[in-house]
Amino acid sequence: MTVLDPAVENISLLLTLVVTIASLFVVLLFTLGYISDKQLRMKSLNLQESENRYQSFIDLNPDGVFILDRKRRIVKCNRAFEQLCSRPFEQFKNTDYTLFIKDPENRSKTKEAFKKVLNGETSKQTVTVTNFAGELIDLEATSVPHVVNGETIGVIGIVKDITDIKKAEELVRQSEKLAVVGELAAGVAHEIRNPLTTLKGFTQMFFARSSEPENEKFLKIMLDEIERINFIVSEFMVLAKPHMTIMQPKDIISILKSVKAILDTQAVLKNIEIDFRCPNETISVVCEENQVKQVFMNVIKNAIEAMKDGGTIQLIVDQEKDRNVTIHVIDEGVGIPKENISQLGQPFFTTKPEGTGLGLMVSYKIIENHNGKIKIASEENKGTAVTITLPVAMSTRQENHGIVRDAKRRNATIIQYKKRSSF
Ligand code: ADP
Ligand code: MG
Repeated sequence: MTVLDPAVENISLLLTLVVTIASLFVVLLFTLGYISDKQLRMKSLNLQESENRYQSFIDLNPDGVFILDRKRRIVKCNRAFEQLCSRPFEQFKNTDYTLFIKDPENRSKTKEAFKKVLNGETSKQTVTVTNFAGELIDLEATSVPHVVNGETIGVIGIVKDITDIKKAEELVRQSEKLAVVGELAAGVAHEIRNPLTTLKGFTQMFFARSSEPENEKFLKIMLDEIERINFIVSEFMVLAKPHMTIMQPKDIISILKSVKAILDTQAVLKNIEIDFRCPNETISVVCEENQVKQVFMNVIKNAIEAMKDGGTIQLIVDQEKDRNVTIHVIDEGVGIPKENISQLGQPFFTTKPEGTGLGLMVSYKIIENHNGKIKIASEENKGTAVTITLPVAMSTRQENHGIVRDAKRRNATIIQYKKRSSF
């Protein structure tokens, strides 16, 4: 057995130690490298994830989202925003977003708000903008600073289209106003009625006694004007509270027949035929007879007035499932332009030189008080279809149960109506 020199033995021991330390160092380096690599990968994954979240927040948001640079220019937006603008992004890329606001006061307010947001504040405001299609849109706009690496590089805006909500609020406000005005008008109308009757009586008396043609002419004018005041006053009286009226079961068919009889003469003079069709002998409706008559007088008169060149007015009664009765008044008149449809029923909306603009408002009110509905469909130069639905009186519904006319015939009437009036 050879005995190693102690010096050689020390060197080999040292070598082993160096190798071990070096290997440990390498392992440590590897481990550290592995850990930092993993951390890096995790970081990049997190970054990717946050980028995805940001992207989907923008892309999938049902509200319009747009990103502005520090000079108020639109540099990015989502699909919903493009739809609001009614143009693809490419066509308004880098446009100053305040150019969508036409009102100068609102525009300068928005510019002020933008500056504040750049300074770290958030802003919420409602604003009316005009899109590329020229439509006015009410928006609820929220703006927040767009911060990247601690630096504000612009503004992120989120806009919600509240046009419909605003319109609905306006309608509620209007109908509340109308209710108050209506009550007031109905009260005043009552007060006017009595002195008016006296005035009419005396004027008629003077007219009858007069022997001078000159006076007769003026008295005739006075009587006509009194008649007009009387007409307007009567229209307003309908706006009184529903409990002031007496509701009774009445036959809607005879009501329609009597209205037709009154208006037939006026129609014939204008070369118009009123074609009346109904499936039943009688249909009972709980109503205030005079008010319902007033509605059909108004609606059929409107139809007559719309038909300058004569033609046919279809007056069709249909009873759906015994619950409701529907009356269609279809004319071949001038029709109603789209922009006027939303104004129908507003007090004093008229397109006629001699019109009062009260007929439809009063008709809507009466039918509403009778738990019914009025729908108006119209096409310019083709005609107008007014559909009035009223609930049928209970007893009639029971009586009719099982013996009601055959559904086929009823449907046939309606198909025919749809064919003849192409709207
Ligand atoms: P008025 O008849 O006094 O004008 P209404 O309230 O009855 O008041 O009608 C309001 C407006 O609605 C009319 O002036 C007319 O422009 C429109 N209108 C109503 N019914 C018809 C119809 N059948 N055809 C065409 N326009 C209609
Ligand atoms: Mg009218």
